[in-house]
Amino acid sequence: MSGAKTYTGGCHCGEVRFEVTTDLVNVVACNCSICQKRGALWSFVPSANFALRAGADSLKDYQFGKKSIHHLFCAHCGVGAFSRGTNPKGDEMVAVNVRCLDEADLGALQPTPFDGRSL
Ligand SMILES: [Zn+2]
Repeated sequence: MSGAKTYTGGCHCGEVRFEVTTDLVNVVACNCSICQKRGALWSFVPSANFALRAGADSLKDYQFGKKSIHHLFCAHCGVGAFSRGTNPKGDEMVAVNVRCLDEADLGALQPTPFDGRSL
């Protein structure tokens, strides 16, 4: 990951806070049933690049379909700032909602469409 930076982010109310190291090059806009409704933009990182700093007790887990992904969200404000799952190789991954980072330049991103709806 060249150009990787450590960003801070969190939910809306501030209960859930995290740090993530990512380069924001491969940001994904997924059209699956939940991503379309949430409007999230995702950056996928190995779980070692992600650290939850606050709010573990405030997280609720939403799962559907194959239940392979944990769509975590803040129980107070409802914002889903990140999700957890495993990639096809079985590695623990975190998908961070780039819209929930404190200092990401969203206008400069060129999200890659991902056809999650057809999976
Ligand atoms: Zn919150």
